[in-house]
Amino acid sequence: MAPELNPRQLTGREESHLVALPSGHRLQAQAAAAFQALQDDARSAGFDLAIASSFRSYSRQLAIWNGKARGERKVHDDAGREVLVSALPGPQRLRAILRYSAIPGTSRHHWGTDLDVYDAAALPADYRLELSPAEVAPGGLFDSLHRWLDERMAAGESCGFYRPYALDRGGVAPERWHLSYAPLSVACASRVTARLLMDCWGDCPAGEEPVLLAEEIRAFLPQLMANYLAVGVDWCPAPARFA
Ligand SMILES: [Zn+2]
Repeated sequence: MAPELNPRQLTGREESHLVALPSGHRLQAQAAAAFQALQDDARSAGFDLAIASSFRSYSRQLAIWNGKARGERKVHDDAGREVLVSALPGPQRLRAILRYSAIPGTSRHHWGTDLDVYDAAALPADYRLELSPAEVAPGGLFDSLHRWLDERMAAGESCGFYRPYALDRGGVAPERWHLSYAPLSVACASRVTARLLMDCWGDCPAGEEPVLLAEEIRAFLPQLMANYLAVGVDWCPAPARFA
């Protein structure tokens, strides 16, 4: 059994729970071994299962979040159109960003259990990977890989991986590319509480930029946690949890 993560590891402020894969991407050791097994299976089926993003630190998530809140990084709506967040009132700005990005401290990528994948064998030369809905849609570049993954998950043979953002439940947009290693991530999810997050945001080292939209985040925290963080245990197929 992997040891329980401490609050700093759960919120991406500490990196001692991680090991590096040959690609340089980092995950917890048990998740890394499981992913390598899934990669071997994918190779036998003709896919080159590759990681676009794995562990992400608090400071990296902070740069993404604050960049979007300031309007320096692009924010898109569901139709892929750019949203001018600076023109929106705080609560709407918050929801526009939350559709595709997590508040620093709340990202599943902090845990070393979750990752974004693509099929490197399907990548045309000179193509810049986007991780966009079009790439994973029927007929898209990575649709075949994802259909294969769907089959593995349905058969309980996905080495413990499932999709926490498979469906649009009104919170985080569907992200077919995002996989989670259930034997570790289900426990991590259950340990992220409002208290833990408030402590994380309060534990701001000297010189660190504060989280933007903090007032709105605090005012709506219970709803935000229910709508954007909570992943129902039943969204994860039982065979994945006990892989
Ligand atoms: Zn992701």
